[in-house]
Amino acid sequence: MIEIRALTKYFGSSLVLDRVDLDVARHEVVCLIGASGSGKSTLLRCINRLIEPDWGEIRIDGRTVTDPGWGRTGLQQRVGIVFQSYNLFPHMRVIDNITLAPRKVLRQSRAQAEEQALETLALFGMERFARAYPEQLSGGQQQRVALARALAGQPEVLLLDEVTAALDPELVGEVMEAIRSLKARGLTMVIVTHEMGFARDLADRVCFLDGGRIVEEAAPAQLFNAPEHPRTRQFLERLL
Ligand code: ADP
Ligand code: MG
Repeated sequence: MIEIRALTKYFGSSLVLDRVDLDVARHEVVCLIGASGSGKSTLLRCINRLIEPDWGEIRIDGRTVTDPGWGRTGLQQRVGIVFQSYNLFPHMRVIDNITLAPRKVLRQSRAQAEEQALETLALFGMERFARAYPEQLSGGQQQRVALARALAGQPEVLLLDEVTAALDPELVGEVMEAIRSLKARGLTMVIVTHEMGFARDLADRVCFLDGGRIVEEAAPAQLFNAPEHPRTRQFLERLL
């Protein structure tokens, strides 16, 4: 579903992504781990063109992301992203936050958009908050709304960048549970996380980034129990 070849990105003179190759199959969940500054967010953002790489190629469904017939907006509709800061519109109710894009971009009727939004909220145990404003919700609830909003565009791929990093520890679990339910539904996801337990549990494959390269990738049991690359070992040992 996603094919990344020789992806290279500089910020000024610093090489941030160094010829990264990565394939993600349909329905697969791939977790990206690595130290701060290793290039995880940059890699994720290149996939839906929030960042333009300097070199290399990214194809989604066999079609290059820079295909002019597709356009950046079309791409970003098919490849959704959620960040650490949930960025909900504070003056809009939960339901309106979620239905805005489907109504404006997908031209759905209000009734249709709301029906879908309520379905997603129900999946996350959040339907009773449809009429609430973001400030009335906990961080974990707001992040689940942000997930629901990303899903409302009916993306084929969802990118998650440290979505639990800003949450109080007791709220992390409910957001992970929401992500787990998306995996159960077969959504293709690329997830940057520093929660190793979550990666071990959820990922089909884990990629360890170091200095802008994927230095090791393997099934979670393999990567966490028997890392092969010294840099991976060092990274995991520091977390203990
Ligand atoms: P990670 O998500 O793994 O912490 P990032 O992809 O955010 O890493 O960053 C990789 C490197 O690129 C870091 O050294 C960071 O400082 C640098 N960087 C990221 N974004 C920018 C930017 N917009 N301008 C300049 N440097 C950046
Ligand atoms: Mg990051």
